[in-house]
Amino acid sequence: MAENKMLKFVSREQEMPAKRAADDRVKDFGEIYANFVQPSAQDQAGRCSQCGIPFCQVHCPLSNNIPDWLKLTAEGRLQEAYELSQATNSMPEVCGRICPQDRLCEGNCVIEKDFNSVTIGSVEKFLTDTAWEKGWVKPRLPRKEIGLSVGVIGAGPAGLAAAEMLRAKGYEVHVYDRYDRVGGLLIYGIPGFKLEKTVVNRRAELLEAQGVKFHLNFAVGTDASLDDLREKHDAILISTGVYKARDVALPGAGLDGVLPAMTYLTASNKVSMGDKVPEYESGELNANGKHVVVIGGGDTAMDCVRTAVRQGAKSVKCLYRRDKENMPGSQREVKNAEEEGVEFVWLSAPQAFLGDGKVTAVKANRMRLGLPDSSGRQTPEVIEGSSVNHPADLVIKALGFDPEELPLMFGAPELAVSRWGTLKVDFRTQMTSLDGVFAAGDIVRGASLVVWAIRDGRDVADQMHLYLKAKAEAGLAKAS
Ligand code: FAD
Ligand code: SF4
Ligand code: SF4
Repeated sequence: MAENKMLKFVSREQEMPAKRAADDRVKDFGEIYANFVQPSAQDQAGRCSQCGIPFCQVHCPLSNNIPDWLKLTAEGRLQEAYELSQATNSMPEVCGRICPQDRLCEGNCVIEKDFNSVTIGSVEKFLTDTAWEKGWVKPRLPRKEIGLSVGVIGAGPAGLAAAEMLRAKGYEVHVYDRYDRVGGLLIYGIPGFKLEKTVVNRRAELLEAQGVKFHLNFAVGTDASLDDLREKHDAILISTGVYKARDVALPGAGLDGVLPAMTYLTASNKVSMGDKVPEYESGELNANGKHVVVIGGGDTAMDCVRTAVRQGAKSVKCLYRRDKENMPGSQREVKNAEEEGVEFVWLSAPQAFLGDGKVTAVKANRMRLGLPDSSGRQTPEVIEGSSVNHPADLVIKALGFDPEELPLMFGAPELAVSRWGTLKVDFRTQMTSLDGVFAAGDIVRGASLVVWAIRDGRDVADQMHLYLKAKAEAGLAKAS
């Protein structure tokens, strides 16, 4: 009888791919985890107990068929495993790297409690990186051209996932983005130590090979109005993400050296890709030799502190108003940051930025957690008379993002928005208040995750296809 390759979680320990030592990895912006080598990936996949009701899959936003591709991996049938994993995910190697697996698939793996979860994300990354190396990743060419065209505004993961699906169905797909590169926050938000830029660039090249047409440095609202694009295309997808930085109205907020997170991260990402950024060279957007204080407890704050360490900051502190257990960012990223020398000051909220023209310190109150609010989270309360000054030459505010005012920006006042400014869509069709204009990703959900943006992009492509089919059948579509 053939040996069963699965259910090895009792005899086989959980093993992650090797992680570079902290003092080595802070010297550059390269990824910190190595790839699995095949025997380890096979061994680790074989720890899966092949659950009848796989909670890993239930908690994966893409409902990835995890048990089946783990089994194929354990059996060494890597190409089949890859084919299965990419059938539900437009960028498995990206998700394998940056999904907060501890809150999604792995955090819900049934063997987690006593034996540590199956390392699902690392196997997913291994499979797709292997597929790229072996040439198994191919552009999804359409079988025939439909003769209708679609405009996608925003080349982040939501727009790219939709573009790939729509092009595969035979639509002419044009993607417009105000940035000079494809990828949205995968390029200009998330630093290379979590996701190397080559991983994103090869996806952009694949889409080009598929026939998707990119129009970069093209800001809708400036270079064309929404109406112009509606005239040109049979349907439009808005996937512009959320970029308006949340702020704190505190004394000293206008001092030099107090920056929003995206300004800081975008400059660093540009420099890591070889661009010249004068404000980086002048020191304005560079943490080198500075005492840095980052305010916030989400993914963005974690990326800022770890970027500052790599730029050669003298010290890096992260101030967060709740405690470690109640922070929104991934615990894995906190651990990585701590290993790299970041000091976390939990239960601490800024009261004022101090300095004369230029920031020199952050005055912060100590906090305690009070009664839960309507969402169930404990509300942070100030401990009176507890303020502390943290010396700082650079303060980075990472307090979250809200949507820009799209109806105003796009010259489309009839575009309906929620009270948070996100686009309102019909929850079944993902269509906005404008006929033939759909929306997906963070601009609908608010700041979220890459894996949800991919899910939304794939779903909206199906809805746009249904809409366009009906329009063509009724003889109402424009011929391209
Ligand atoms: P985006 O990725 O924001 O893409 C939107 C695109 O639209 C951009 O390219 C933008 O230039 C373009 N655009 C906007 N307005 C216009 C216009 N008027 N005209 C033309 N183009 C326009 N998620 C994770 O899952 N894991 C992580 O580790 C993680 N880390 C993060 C770190 C940071 C610093 C940030 C900010 C976010 C992080 N996220 C992470 C969240 C994740 O990046 C987003 O949820 C995801 O990128 C949203 O995808 P999207 O396609 O909706 O929008
Ligand atoms: Fe886990 Fe994310 Fe992959 Fe789903 S997409 S299996 S949540 S790593
Ligand atoms: Fe395998 Fe864990 Fe998923 Fe069960 S929950 S199928 S053990 S990965």
